[in-house]
Amino acid sequence: MLFRSLAAFGAAAAALLAVAAPVAAQEVDLRAQVAAYVQPTNEARTRVVVDQLRAAGFDPVVETFAGGNRQTGAMEGRNVVVTIGDGPREILLTAHYDAVVLRDGSMSQGVVDNAASVVGVIEAAKILRSKALNHRVRIILFDQEELGLIGARKWIAAHGLADVAAVVNSDVAGYGDTMMYGLNNGPQSAGVVRAVREVCAERAMHCVGYPVYPPSDDRAFSGAGLGGETAAAAVVPTVSLGFQDHVGAHQMWLAFNGGETNGLAEGFVPRVFQLIHSADDTMEHIDPATVKTAGEVYAAVVARLDRQLAN
Ligand SMILES: [Zn+2]
Repeated sequence: MLFRSLAAFGAAAAALLAVAAPVAAQEVDLRAQVAAYVQPTNEARTRVVVDQLRAAGFDPVVETFAGGNRQTGAMEGRNVVVTIGDGPREILLTAHYDAVVLRDGSMSQGVVDNAASVVGVIEAAKILRSKALNHRVRIILFDQEELGLIGARKWIAAHGLADVAAVVNSDVAGYGDTMMYGLNNGPQSAGVVRAVREVCAERAMHCVGYPVYPPSDDRAFSGAGLGGETAAAAVVPTVSLGFQDHVGAHQMWLAFNGGETNGLAEGFVPRVFQLIHSADDTMEHIDPATVKTAGEVYAAVVARLDRQLAN
């Protein structure tokens, strides 16, 4: 009797799965997408970016460059690029996919920083391709950010910035419901910041702006905080976005912007900085709901910029 009912249950479950399967196949498991980036090398992570873009129906181009820094020596890098639409000017939506090599020589799993952003950006790309846009949208997943924004600098050197109307970058977007945005990409970025704030208001979501915000590939485009030729050449409207939990976002604001009266304990390090660039940047911290939200919000910011910059 027991076996019989189990068998019947099994048959019913199999029938249910058969019906459910086509629907499930369309829904990407965002947690699994992020987990796929846990790899022993950055070359392996490049393959994951390319595979995920192809699975999403895109035709990614891998642009190799001569990279590396003083510590690593010469090291080839690979930016992965997808283009949506064909307007005369373009909006870039970017995130780095490389992970940092830890002091003991092993690789960080690099999921909060920055596989979750990469998956969020791919989700945004899927939303944006169905929209009628005035601009080309170029999705760029950069390599060698962790070595000094090298992928971004090499992309600029290869393509120039004459056609680039704005840049939206994502770094650290693994958990939490609060979107962070930097306010330190120069006065030319005021319009991009306004677009971010309008999306925050429209969606009634927690957002925190930072006068001082950690550097990512955004700096290569805005020139802010970079000296010499790069600063002179790069003055594109740019914003860098990220996500974390609400309290953490405010603690991080205080740590960077609160001055001597920030009220934080001596030596306080915001949790997100304890995770990234360490062996603790692991899947247990990843919330797929954040990745989904990030994709939707990034698409909304790019779509809003597309309208505003067209006028
Ligand atoms: Zn990062």
